[in-house]
Amino acid sequence: MSLFDAFQPIAAIATTPQATQLLHPLCQSLGATLYVPETLPLSDTTICHYQGSLKAHLATIWPNNRAFIFCLATGAVTRLIAPLLKDKASDPAIIVIDPTGQYVISLCSGHQGGADRLAQLIAHHLHATPIITGASHHLNLPAIDLLGLPFGWRKGPGDWTGVSHAIASQKTIQVIQEAGSRLWQENLPQNHPFYFGFGEMGENARPEGRIWISATQRRFAEGSSLPKVQWYPRVLWVGIGCIRGTSQELIASAIQDVCQKYHLAEEAIAGIATIDIKADEVGIIQYCQEKQYPLLTYSADVLNTIDVPNPSDIVKEEVGTYSVAEAAAVYGANYWFSSQGNREQGTGNRKQIQFKKPLLVNKQIVKSEHEAVTIAIAQSELEYTGRTGKIYLVGIGPGSLEQITAAAKTAINEVDSIIGYSLYLDLIKPLQRSGQIIESLPITKEKKRAQRAIELAQWGLSVAVVSSGDCGIYGMAGLVLEELKNSNWDGNNPSIEVFPGITALQAAAARVGTPLMHDFCAISLSDLLTPWDVIKKRLTAAAMGDFVTALYNPRSQTRQTQIVEAQNIFLNYRNSNTPVALVRCAYRQDETIILTNLGEMLNYDIDMLTTVLIGNSSTFYYENWMITPRGYKQVDEQK
Ligand code: SAH
Repeated sequence: MSLFDAFQPIAAIATTPQATQLLHPLCQSLGATLYVPETLPLSDTTICHYQGSLKAHLATIWPNNRAFIFCLATGAVTRLIAPLLKDKASDPAIIVIDPTGQYVISLCSGHQGGADRLAQLIAHHLHATPIITGASHHLNLPAIDLLGLPFGWRKGPGDWTGVSHAIASQKTIQVIQEAGSRLWQENLPQNHPFYFGFGEMGENARPEGRIWISATQRRFAEGSSLPKVQWYPRVLWVGIGCIRGTSQELIASAIQDVCQKYHLAEEAIAGIATIDIKADEVGIIQYCQEKQYPLLTYSADVLNTIDVPNPSDIVKEEVGTYSVAEAAAVYGANYWFSSQGNREQGTGNRKQIQFKKPLLVNKQIVKSEHEAVTIAIAQSELEYTGRTGKIYLVGIGPGSLEQITAAAKTAINEVDSIIGYSLYLDLIKPLQRSGQIIESLPITKEKKRAQRAIELAQWGLSVAVVSSGDCGIYGMAGLVLEELKNSNWDGNNPSIEVFPGITALQAAAARVGTPLMHDFCAISLSDLLTPWDVIKKRLTAAAMGDFVTALYNPRSQTRQTQIVEAQNIFLNYRNSNTPVALVRCAYRQDETIILTNLGEMLNYDIDMLTTVLIGNSSTFYYENWMITPRGYKQVDEQK
């Protein structure tokens, strides 16, 4: 299951039959390898035996796994892993589950190793309680050493433990953010400890920790009592030109020197940009591969459209543009806007590319005996994440948290960002994780919501778009896929996964009995996006075909007549005694249920929170239960 991809490979260890029974199905969902001692029988080919002591076995598999799940006493686990632990930057996530599967403990490597998140995901999966003891989790704050990961920021130097400790002690932390996304700032709890800005904080107020978020290389003075850390958003685009055959070494040292000279952090480099005829330049390719930088190339004609500080006639003569390094750096820094522009091309309305940021470093020439490289650096407004985005289309069921599938819960907890209508976001608040980017848009702005989700995913984030009920039934899922199609989506990037939910008709039916026991259909009475003639045709067909019928969106303040017409259509084909249930806010706090019939249904309140269930010609009431028979022939199928 892709939800757990970020933690793979995962190993799980059980030493008793009970623990094996608990972990085996979990491992199958997670894609984890389950190890048991030789003394236990193997019930399945997916379980592996280990030979000898668990201690020795653990030492063998330790380097090959990013996460370990134990169903063992925490004391035993602590002793087993103690000799293997190195540091929190490299240790795997350690999870302990109690033998009854009620508690999932994040034991070690909670932040960087991901154990806190994995424990939460597994807990949602097992309907268990996650046990997380890190301070930031309980303050509802993003962990400071994970803050930039969704945006692809690189971690810089600093006293991470010191700043984390100051946050946990609820001290004021100064944040100086000069680059990168500020989305994380918009999702902090009200009483967060951060002070944003350079200035004085007011009388007697002093920060007790500082976070720099910038592309600038800071030197933290040794011995300072103020703990400081630095994150580097990847905003620097290095434009490069060189003589054919220039070595990787000269390119690397030239970029390093230029960065140093201008106090820029190499960690903040997003990528390299050059002219297309350099796409096969070995030194550049090797350098990009080693550093894992993207290499963007542009034609001479494209580069020539940019005004640069240092145009060169010689360069124009040689390659057809007045500038390679400077123009390519500016183009690189605007790659996001230009890629959006290109995407729009298919729809015939190409956006004007807006070149927003000036060059940070004008053309610098670095030479050795036979080689020469030209470098310029521009800073982009939006950082490069280096991540492939994904969108989960999630149905959250009719209302109460118990009615959400475990997979949907896990998906909501896993993503970087959640987008939905505010009522639904409130319903799933308990499933949210600190540090997530939550964006609500009004109910009428469904298309905007879909576009925003796509924008964030194209940028590299994982996004959950939530709908009530099932997301694929009058929900957001179709809109997102339609919008993706309009943006010339290749079907893979961003990746899509759909999580089904209990739709209103199932929820309403469950509250009144078994009205959907035989052939049924759903019809939405909203004619905002569908012509009323089409809806009428379907109502007639459903009534004529004797389908049990669920009416969604039955009546709103502006649409009052549709439900009256619907009733009349059904009365043409069905008896006025036909059972009709009006279920409002199923599984929500203000749920109301009215059992009536086709003739009298309009004597009751029906609104946009109601689902109307119209029975077929065989549906009947028995002791306030609405029942549609399983079949009509008198055959005993149970034999
Ligand atoms: N995607 C949703 C449907 C959205 S259309 C789903 O699968 O359930 C909105 C309509 O759904 C409402 O007008 C109402 O008719 C119905 N509805 C949604 N939630 C409901 C609930 N909790 N109780 C009764 N009807 C509901």
